[in-house]
Amino acid sequence: MASGLRMIVGPMFSGKTTELLRILRKYAIAGYAVVLVKPSTDARYSASKVVSHDGLEMDALVVEPSFTGLARVAELLFEHDVVGIDEFQFFEYSPDLVKFLLNLSSEKLVIVAALNLDFRGEPWEVVKELLPYAEDVKVLKAVCTYVDQQRRKCGKQASRTQRLIDGRPAPYDSPRIMVGGKESYEARCRKHHVVPGRRD
Ligand code: ADP
Ligand code: MG
Repeated sequence: MASGLRMIVGPMFSGKTTELLRILRKYAIAGYAVVLVKPSTDARYSASKVVSHDGLEMDALVVEPSFTGLARVAELLFEHDVVGIDEFQFFEYSPDLVKFLLNLSSEKLVIVAALNLDFRGEPWEVVKELLPYAEDVKVLKAVCTYVDQQRRKCGKQASRTQRLIDGRPAPYDSPRIMVGGKESYEARCRKHHVVPGRRD
């Protein structure tokens, strides 16, 4: 069985969860023991399932998003061949967490899906710290859904996540973690990613 670390990054709606579930299903069908982990931060749709924006779903092990949370289920993780982690950006960064995942992925295939940037367009530290160790990084893009005054759609590749509060761009000082779906987030290209109050 292959081991190593694979990462899937991109903005919201770029298909990270879909891709993660697709890979995990392939291994499950091929007869490997597969486990999917998600942080307790993300209670969208279901507490114990990972669900994509298209409605694909898979049972998940919910853990506290920290080294301690993962360490608590270490034994179980090491009993599987393939370990998927969704919404990895919500894990609290610590060198121990990175060490733990490097150790796990030296024996098992670990596939991590994460936002690379937050709504401000700034990196999530835990993702930034793990990324260089990945043997394989897939950078996914969504489609920019910005519509101008003349109702023309942008349609370029979207690499950013726009947070909206009551339909308006969220200010820079809005809290970093705000779990939500289509009502509060849109995929945007760089040009149409707006963060009022950001110093560029
Ligand atoms: P992620 O985990 O990256 O947020 P998902 O895998 O849950 O993404 O969902 C991807 C799906 O989101 C796409 O297959 C598509 O059906 C839907 N979607 C919604 N908005 C967009 C968009 N702006 N660009 C691309 N796909 C979108
Ligand atoms: Mg997702």
